[in-house]
Amino acid sequence: MITRISTFCLLAGTMLMCPLSSMAQPSVVASIKPLQMIAAAVMDGVAQPAVLIPSNQSPHHYVLRPSDVALVSSADVLLWVGEPMETYLASLFSDVEDATTVLEAASLPEIWLQAPGGEQLQEEEARYDSHLWLNSANAMLIAEHLAVELVRRDPANSAAYQSNLAAFQSLVVATQAQIATRLASMRAMEFAVFHDGIRYFERQFGLQNQFVVAPDHESQPGIRHLMEIQALIEQNSPACLLEDINTSMATVNTVLRDLPVKRVPIDPLGDAIVADKQGYARLLTSLADAFDTCMQAP
Ligand SMILES: [Zn+2]
Repeated sequence: MITRISTFCLLAGTMLMCPLSSMAQPSVVASIKPLQMIAAAVMDGVAQPAVLIPSNQSPHHYVLRPSDVALVSSADVLLWVGEPMETYLASLFSDVEDATTVLEAASLPEIWLQAPGGEQLQEEEARYDSHLWLNSANAMLIAEHLAVELVRRDPANSAAYQSNLAAFQSLVVATQAQIATRLASMRAMEFAVFHDGIRYFERQFGLQNQFVVAPDHESQPGIRHLMEIQALIEQNSPACLLEDINTSMATVNTVLRDLPVKRVPIDPLGDAIVADKQGYARLLTSLADAFDTCMQAP
């Protein structure tokens, strides 16, 4: 039906006679930057996806601005991880117009979900680790579902979406193979993480952190917990502590400053990475780079 309208538009020779929906490319709004990067790959050369949560802000705790609400209500397709990470989006996203498509990554069939400790999620468990974009098969799956939706809404650009999807998939497959080779020798490496946000990447590439400094995501750990961390670092002497960029906690810094542990920045949300068609692959590579740095002698 939509194809017939497009053909009619071409034949009529004037866009004024075409219904609005057949003229404009769908507007896509992603909740976080890694999802925006995946969308940017699928939409390359057609349109730019927007992002809600700005770089330097934690997706675990975010307060919506009026401009975010306006952006969401103007979107054709909304792409998000889902609750529990983005609880503040749940009521907004459930209240959108019928014509808006909401793609919730955590609910896609075949998405790989892990329990917070890194094991495969069991059926009865409701709580999953929400950093699911760091499994590259999940990223390809999200891209696939988005492409299907974009082709449905915008058949005129279907060839572009399909070839973009194929290009994204081959880039991700090549990147994950490179990373697997690079990290193969690091499987026994002992390291700690500041925030437990890269378990999907760890599991995919056979790594496992020894302990987490701030278990309750980005909220400030208590002094008692920090003393335990201090003891853990002294006993285990991990090769490094991987710390999310843009995380700044005064107490933590005070406790860690004098400890003999190398601190390596990581960027699992891609705050410092351009959200273009290669952004997602660069995000994965940047995590592999951090493990390299961790391995090298101080
Ligand atoms: Zn997190």
